Amino acid sequence: MSSYHLTQLDGGIVELDASTIDSFAASLRGELITTDAAHYDWARTLWNAMIDKRPGLIVRCAVPADVRAAIDFARHNNLLISVRGGGHNIAGNAVCEGGLMIDLAPMRWVRVDPTAATAWVGAGALLGDVDQETLAHGLVVPLGINSTTGIAGLTLGGGFGWLSRRFGLAIDHLLSADVVGTDGRLLRASEQDNPDLFWALRGGGGNFGIVTAFEFSLQPVLPEVVAGLIVYPLSQARDVLQQYGDFAAEAPDNLSVWGVMRKAPPLPFLPETVHGTEVLILALCYSGNLDDAEAFIDPLRRLGTPLGEHVGRQPFVDWQSAFDPLLTPGARNYWKSHNLASLPDALIDTLIEFCQKLPSDQTEIFIAQMGGATNRLAVDATAYPHRENQFIINVHGRWNSVKDDERCINWCRQLFDALVPHAMGGVYVNFMTADEQYRVGAAYGANHQRLANLKQKYDPDNLLRMNQNIPPVG
Ligand SMILES: Cc1cc2nc3c(=O)[nH]c(=O)nc-3n(C[C@H](O)[C@H](O)[C@H](O)COP(=O)(O)OP(=O)(O)OC[C@H]3O[C@@H](n4cnc5c(N)ncnc54)[C@H](O)[C@@H]3O)c2cc1C
Repeated sequence: MSSYHLTQLDGGIVELDASTIDSFAASLRGELITTDAAHYDWARTLWNAMIDKRPGLIVRCAVPADVRAAIDFARHNNLLISVRGGGHNIAGNAVCEGGLMIDLAPMRWVRVDPTAATAWVGAGALLGDVDQETLAHGLVVPLGINSTTGIAGLTLGGGFGWLSRRFGLAIDHLLSADVVGTDGRLLRASEQDNPDLFWALRGGGGNFGIVTAFEFSLQPVLPEVVAGLIVYPLSQARDVLQQYGDFAAEAPDNLSVWGVMRKAPPLPFLPETVHGTEVLILALCYSGNLDDAEAFIDPLRRLGTPLGEHVGRQPFVDWQSAFDPLLTPGARNYWKSHNLASLPDALIDTLIEFCQKLPSDQTEIFIAQMGGATNRLAVDATAYPHRENQFIINVHGRWNSVKDDERCINWCRQLFDALVPHAMGGVYVNFMTADEQYRVGAAYGANHQRLANLKQKYDPDNLLRMNQNIPPVG
């Protein structure tokens, strides 16, 4: 190509000649991918197949210096930029139309110090990379439930999973981060260094700088957990969910039980006649003393008459990827999420009504149990403010064909609307879709104003705007 046309922050187009692009590429340890490259489509593709944007350039950063070079290049040319960690976010802000996509995937490394019980993690690492390295030493950061999710986006939004009730969120274990600021300077963020930035990074999404590495403190865990699934027919869901709500309120911190309503996958422990029928699955993980597990778990089998179950001891590292087969990339996905304080009967009835008309075999409604250690910090301790919710409900629409988009999205929106009267009003920023910018205030609650002021300090030009954006306020 003799010249390149790139989208700028104000929506205009700038024309850059080949020598400008070549000298930018030559300055990198990583790779600059142009639109005519054979692997351009591979590099721009995200987990959610609904996202189909074509950036003007993709810079695959190998080292922090590449991130600095990318920021400098973007600032100099006033380019629209997006930042990609693991590429999982449902909103698809990791890729931008026509601008510069800054891809951190090559920075995929983890270094554990077992003596200090800390880990440094590169911004391109996936959750499975972190679990593999830390669990080898009997140590863990509480992360999410799908091993191919990116550490960067998950952590910057908060990060919860099977161990969060016991240990808190991923951000509650963040010790420091290396950040390339929007002025190109390398900043360290910790309780000692730039503590306001450190506060903002812990939940404020990708609004404040580009993180190149995260430092976490690690917690000791046993190598095995008792985990698995107990499956009930939808006809018993009302009774089971009512009792589950009471059970959850009394459960110990080292037990997490999530409710999943969907059509039964062809799980080998279920009779074939059940496959494809609507079910309520209790997915559970007990991470305490294994000999005590049964006493806590057994009542979950007596909330009704289960269709089947598969519960037992297994390495935690295996359980951390148990849901990967249901969450593969390449499907079309649309999510709607609420925070919940409890599971009132009217909410349960609504869930059952909508579960009877699921729009696809892959669509599910999951109720993640929060509480425990996630609730033990003050609302203003970190940018993530939801320290009072007991559950996060996610309406996860998932299907394969474009022709089903409207029908499936409508079902998600209708269920979301029907749940509003029972919800707390807040939302987890990492579960927001591209059309939910209007909910950013709900994502940050009482912390929103402080975040807007910090955005003015760390990104006054709103260079980092491909995110759930917090506009700067002086
Ligand atoms: C299948 C699936 C399962 C999930 N399960 C869980 C779960 O159990 N628990 C949970 O808490 N969340 C979960 N999530 C949500 C997940 O936390 C978010 O999607 C998260 O944003 C993914 O991070 P990523 O790096 O893969 O995403 P990306 O799409 O790469 O990044 C998301 C956004 O983060 C910002 N960003 C990324 N990297 C950086 C960086 N280094 N510096 C600055 N900004 C950056 C950018 O704004 C980017 O648009 C899940 C998501 C999926 C798709």
